[in-house]
Amino acid sequence: MNAHVDFSSVETEAARLQGEYGHLKGAALLRTLAKSELGGKIMMTSSFGAEAAVLLDLVAKVDPSIPVIFLDTRRLFGETLRYQKELTEILGLKDVRVIRPDTDRLQKLDPDDMLFTSDTDTCCSIRKVEPLDNTMKTLKENGFKGWITGRKRFHSDTRGTIDAIEAADGFLKINPLAHWTNEDVKAAYLEKNLPPHPLVADGFLSIGCMPCTERAAPDGDARSGRWAGKGKTECGIHAPRIEAAFI
Ligand code: SF4
Repeated sequence: MNAHVDFSSVETEAARLQGEYGHLKGAALLRTLAKSELGGKIMMTSSFGAEAAVLLDLVAKVDPSIPVIFLDTRRLFGETLRYQKELTEILGLKDVRVIRPDTDRLQKLDPDDMLFTSDTDTCCSIRKVEPLDNTMKTLKENGFKGWITGRKRFHSDTRGTIDAIEAADGFLKINPLAHWTNEDVKAAYLEKNLPPHPLVADGFLSIGCMPCTERAAPDGDARSGRWAGKGKTECGIHAPRIEAAFI
């Protein structure tokens, strides 16, 4: 069954695709969309974080040549950088694209790598928002339409209503795991024998930049350790188009 996609209105198409395929989960959703006119025009972002292996495994099974965008903010844990290489090899991903902040911008605005202590929004802007926006602009110019993310409803109240397919920033945002529960994720790791991120065993349930990530609070949601105590839940004013890269 092929999904006809008219990109004259991404919002309209996202609503139609959600109505038609929003009941599908995981690989079934991805396979259906990969066989549609979206085939060859879908990419994903991944943090290679605490839950990333499940979605990366799904993508590798459906089509290992789907581009995977990994943003190295240059403030990540060494464990994450090593895990990214390990998982890429284990899963057979063929097109992982590592993007990084502009070195001139870092030199100008954060020369000592300590900006996170005084201005997290600007730090996130130059290390995450700018490189991701530049990459997405290039991908869009090259014909990419669909953006696979690992967002899930159970993560927090701010993500409690996300659909399997939605429109954001001119892309069809595809969330194959939107319906999944924490138990679904745990079961998938066991069933598929996926290696966990090495910091998960140490209590980190959502893993971002090293300076801004703590262990999840015992009574908090998975993201409670992100920017803990800073009154910040996402990556600044650009959250809608950037949060997906940091699941
Ligand atoms: S999460 Fe922290 S270190 Fe990473 S870009 Fe944002 S403020 Fe900077």
